Amino acid sequence: MASSATFRFDNSFARELQGFYVPWRPDAVPAPRLLFLNDSLAAELDLDVTALDGHAGAATFAGNALPDGAEPLAQAYAGHQFGGFSPQLGDGRALLLGEVIDRHGRRRDIAFKGSGRTPFARGGDGKAAVGPMLREVLLGEAMHALGIPTTRALAVAATGEPVNREQTLPGAVLTRVAASHIRVGTFEYFAARGDVQRVRRLAEYSIARHDPALGSAAQPFLALLQSVAERQAALIANWMNVGFIHGVMNTDNMAISGETIDYGPCAFMEAYDPATVFSSIDHGGRYAFGQQPEIACWNLARLAEALLPLLADDVEQAVAMATEVVATFPVQYRGHLLRGQCAKLGLRHGEAVDDSGDAALAEDWLALLQAERVDFTLGWRRLADVAAGDESPLRALFADARAPDEWLARWRVRCASEDGSAPAGAATAGMARAEAMRSVNPSVIPRNHRVEEALAAASDEDDLVPFRRLLDALTRPFEELPELAQYAEPAPSEVTACYRTFCGT
Ligand code: AMP
Ligand code: MG
Repeated sequence: MASSATFRFDNSFARELQGFYVPWRPDAVPAPRLLFLNDSLAAELDLDVTALDGHAGAATFAGNALPDGAEPLAQAYAGHQFGGFSPQLGDGRALLLGEVIDRHGRRRDIAFKGSGRTPFARGGDGKAAVGPMLREVLLGEAMHALGIPTTRALAVAATGEPVNREQTLPGAVLTRVAASHIRVGTFEYFAARGDVQRVRRLAEYSIARHDPALGSAAQPFLALLQSVAERQAALIANWMNVGFIHGVMNTDNMAISGETIDYGPCAFMEAYDPATVFSSIDHGGRYAFGQQPEIACWNLARLAEALLPLLADDVEQAVAMATEVVATFPVQYRGHLLRGQCAKLGLRHGEAVDDSGDAALAEDWLALLQAERVDFTLGWRRLADVAAGDESPLRALFADARAPDEWLARWRVRCASEDGSAPAGAATAGMARAEAMRSVNPSVIPRNHRVEEALAAASDEDDLVPFRRLLDALTRPFEELPELAQYAEPAPSEVTACYRTFCGT
């Protein structure tokens, strides 16, 4: 049974990249039921929301009724997982249905996750559970609302089928929208097989799709590497400035589009500590919060290796070219990080006589939060109150209310260097600064205890009300309203200390 032509598919991956995938069909499921439909994203994709709500939508998003024009396929990819190379991963439980051009003219992938085993499934059952799929909705929509590039959830449909994990869980299929699903690991798959022709094909396709301007560059493949580096540097800086821990930054989970992808064991940090790890499988802390910039650079080096044969005939020359790009990553990253930090501090980046002074100011602020175990999100948010003239909310976050004195004095001097000298001018500048700071320092983030509470209600009790309320709060992260206050509060520290996230596979 095919549903109405709701998606206007134009499937360039299927058309142009034969040999990069296996055509495959989703499993039929017994009792499709729509749990979530992202109306605003559907509108962006020019979809007919009324046609996709109710039974028809449930059948479509559970995989029972493929939309016209879909050409479902499982993509091949490899990946470095926790540092070790797996030459064959691929979409074990995911399918790319095809691509659509959105209202802004951007090409977007429409893909299922949890739609059944594929030839890449290895030992897996190909299925997904309601909890982890709704988790991807919450975290992805939160990231989007924070202005951070991310894949997004279009829909989640319950399948009516039990999924066996440590417990038996209700099954679900997620429909994911992405700029593309090309990963560092996609390049590695063909590079590891010595298939230079396909590495070149994939690089050409990637340029056409993500960096069309580079097509005419003198060194298009080197420029592609540079462009991916730039996007990754910006992305990781964004993560670091909101306290996001991806949790499993394997090269198969790094999209060359620069979008955050694969919301598995990810979580937001509460009390600031760069060593924070939540993932139950990250025993060595490889993907701890503070490790993320280095890991992103390491992953970029794996992409560079895969591209080497395209860069120059002479191996040494190719290595030198790639190394130069990889070496610039930390510099780009620090630039993005500092730009974000200056905005969070209420400072106009680039106006300081010496940037290193601002970098030190930001570093010392973080050191202060860490030493006093202050909540990362609230620490920044309450600094905006100080700019507005009220210090008490910030001081209340510290066990010793005087602990921030010295740092605040330095910050004030730096702020004053941007403001007028008259007291009235300073007050106006303070209010404007507070407003600017509140537009970049969120009040509401996906607090771990709130996420767990919402998912437990949905998965165990079939009650989606807490999920919907939380989602609504997460889409307004910069608003500070009484009805959102419960979502802004940190978890009790005992809860955070024991908090573990799971891949949900
Ligand atoms: P992830 O940890 O979700 O990034 O997945 C890593 C690899 O395992 C990918 O190739 C996935 O497609 C595959 N995988 C994860 N869970 C399952 C599952 N339940 N069934 C089949 N393959 C899976
Ligand atoms: Mg993955």
